[in-house]
Amino acid sequence: MSQLNLKPGRERSVLRRHPWIFDGAVENLSGRARSGDTVEVVAADGRVLGRAAWSPSSRIRARVWSFDPAESIDDAFFKRRIARALSRRSDLPELAGQQGLRLIHAEADGLPGVICDCYGDTLVLALSSAGAEKWRDAIVGALIKATGCARIYERSDADLRSLEGLPARCGWLHGDEGGAPVVIEESGVRMAVDIVAGHKTGFYLDQRENRQICRQLARGRRVLNCFCYTGGFSLQALAGGAATVLSVDSSGPALSAAAHNLALNPELEAGRGQWRGADVFSELRTLAAAGERYDLIVLDPPKFAPSPAHAERAARAYKDINLYGFRLLAAGGILMTYSCSGGIGIELFQKIVAGAAQDAKIEARIVRRLSAAADHPVLLDFPEGEYLKGLVCQVG
Ligand code: SAH
Repeated sequence: MSQLNLKPGRERSVLRRHPWIFDGAVENLSGRARSGDTVEVVAADGRVLGRAAWSPSSRIRARVWSFDPAESIDDAFFKRRIARALSRRSDLPELAGQQGLRLIHAEADGLPGVICDCYGDTLVLALSSAGAEKWRDAIVGALIKATGCARIYERSDADLRSLEGLPARCGWLHGDEGGAPVVIEESGVRMAVDIVAGHKTGFYLDQRENRQICRQLARGRRVLNCFCYTGGFSLQALAGGAATVLSVDSSGPALSAAAHNLALNPELEAGRGQWRGADVFSELRTLAAAGERYDLIVLDPPKFAPSPAHAERAARAYKDINLYGFRLLAAGGILMTYSCSGGIGIELFQKIVAGAAQDAKIEARIVRRLSAAADHPVLLDFPEGEYLKGLVCQVG
């Protein structure tokens, strides 16, 4: 096995069990490891710290598989890690019985570069690192055995892959590709999941709990759901007894999918839902100019800041939509506002939302802080894994 020798002092983060080794920490590589091969991580004083996957074309030059220098990285390793990820989820009652569930959340489950989501009897696997790519067959085999799922589809098409020198790859890995479309039920609401062309692996599983909070808050309220995608928040709001729900998204395919989802739940409609294909930034202005008011507004935009380098421009965009969100709230109204940008931390996000309320000349208080659901855990040793944050603000 090749050895990745660290520069003096650079063992500290590995000893704190941080799984990423950046190019600047690497003194040299002894041996001829190829992309994805397992290497031994060695401190400058010769101590062996663990085993990692070598990623020669990425700035994250290696991702640690195991901090136990004696643990072999082989088929059995992936079986163990996958079994542990599954049992972690079955140990949490709130996740029991969910038809849509993230089974493997990469670093947080000890499997950097591996995401696996389950939709009924279909798994969607997304591999994004050289190491995960190398062990693809072992991972697929272990998943089939551990879950008994009939079908596995690969969605390895995240932009991240190009940083690892890997081409995008999508397609069926196992099972009947001609089978039924994937439909899951979330708290009694049926949602079709487009695992082939939808965002991420097809659905925003991370917002599951937050959609439930929206459902609880929606009763009797006039709801505005911005960036509605396939209608997740909107349908839960309708199920919760909203008076009306206006849903806005600029994507035609997303709105068609939302219409299809509505048709899957005929009991929900009763003329309370309105769907609008529009740019949220301009639609918010149009609604404000028309004097419209809402009692519950959901703002769940796409990732405006994929990295801290984009934070400033993203902050302006978040400020803008939150400012209009506050302006459009009726007295006693509630704003559910999110950021899924890794480059914007919760403190900064709260400051942006506070600035928006000030500019709107509105007093609001945080009544709840939100994050991704429990099947998207954050490893204490790897806080970078945290990305989704939200605030529920009550006005008046
Ligand atoms: N809340 C959704 C997920 C939102 S994803 C859920 O829980 O399922 C973000 C959505 O924002 C996408 O559907 C995308 O089409 C839409 N979008 C991105 N930029 C937009 C813009 N400027 N105006 C309107 N919609 C936009």
